[in-house]
Amino acid sequence: MTTHNIPKTDQTLWWKILLGMALGIALGLILSPTGFAIVNDVTATLLGEWIALPGIIFLGLLKMVVIPLVISSIVLGVIDSGSLHFLKTMGAKLVPYFLMTTFISITIGVLIIQTVNPAQYINAQFVDDIMITSDVPFEIFDELTIPQRIENMLPVNFTEASLEKNMLQIVIFSILLGIVMLTLPKKKTRPFAELCEFAQAATMKVIEWAMMLAPYAVFGLIANVTIHMGLDTLAGVGAYMLSVLLGLFAMFLVYLVIAALIAKQNVFTFLKAIRNAQIFAFSTSSSAATIPFTLKAAEEHLGIDEKVSRFVIPLGATINMDGTALYQAAAALFLCSIFGVDLTTGEIFLLMFTTVGASIGTPATPGVGIIVLATILSSIGVPPEGIGIILGVDRILDMCRTTLNVTGDLVATTVMARFTPSDKD
Ligand code: ASP
Repeated sequence: MTTHNIPKTDQTLWWKILLGMALGIALGLILSPTGFAIVNDVTATLLGEWIALPGIIFLGLLKMVVIPLVISSIVLGVIDSGSLHFLKTMGAKLVPYFLMTTFISITIGVLIIQTVNPAQYINAQFVDDIMITSDVPFEIFDELTIPQRIENMLPVNFTEASLEKNMLQIVIFSILLGIVMLTLPKKKTRPFAELCEFAQAATMKVIEWAMMLAPYAVFGLIANVTIHMGLDTLAGVGAYMLSVLLGLFAMFLVYLVIAALIAKQNVFTFLKAIRNAQIFAFSTSSSAATIPFTLKAAEEHLGIDEKVSRFVIPLGATINMDGTALYQAAAALFLCSIFGVDLTTGEIFLLMFTTVGASIGTPATPGVGIIVLATILSSIGVPPEGIGIILGVDRILDMCRTTLNVTGDLVATTVMARFTPSDKD
């Protein structure tokens, strides 16, 4: 029904991005006051800012297009599915599947933090220093009752939703719009469908251009992070960072098992097919900006029916964030131990449920998982300023959790494709 312009990809981009990352770390260590410190603190900070500039432009371009990309992709995904019946049967399988994998992921995060207990390796002086200097730029959310939370999910004011980047409201609005269009005569809906096609093609074009900057962006952003983070922070929160990475890797293995046993994929072919989408997720730290490449992996490399991929991927990118969920649960527990907040088993379960909701509501854009984490922390009695402790390593963890988020969407697509008859009504 629609013409989707999936961007062309430069096959050598992924190694350029990895090279950018390695060089960025090296330069960061050379300049960092706690690394080789070849310049003074002020110059290092100033240089870091300039080196990060291509990265700031890169992220700015991605953030600029995320909302129109998500709306147009979801609306087109819903109308491309062709019928309400298809949507109902797909939704009935997809939502429980998303919830199940998110729970598995959170459980892994909780178990790893309980086992490794990275808080034991943290230096009390380091925590004190951070707490003194931390100036939390995060809004603290009040505790809401469940009916109030449901009310908050309703996109009553679309402008406000897009202003606040409330992705859940935007997703609900877009699905509703798509469903409305499915029920109206085509003659009436065609102009808006064409507008969505334009919005999708235009946003994908901007992403294609932005990707040309990706290696320089990754280089600059990582160099800047390394300058600020330095060796002290790395040593301070290294155990926490490794625990989260271990958790993400464990969840990645779970995905491979799901892909092999449930979706009946050959693991090696699957990994090769999704490699490009993963590297885009890694460099953009945004599941939403990666949508075009996730679609490409699903349709061109995995041969998935467009009807399935066009619905599952935009939706998955915005609400299925297993990497983010794992990270949020792990970070919350880690900070609990640091601040001596003892959670009972019941409270840990409550935290797990809260995290499912938080990960669903996290916008699929760079660095927001940590902002939403502030809501979780304030609900379990941890001072949200504590986020300062893990802020230094957040960019690297964001890149890794986004890669897992996108991998999860692709696994979900193969699972859904396996259980969707190809002769859909
Ligand atoms: N950057 C992540 C994503 O887009 C969200 C997060 O910050 O965890 O998937």
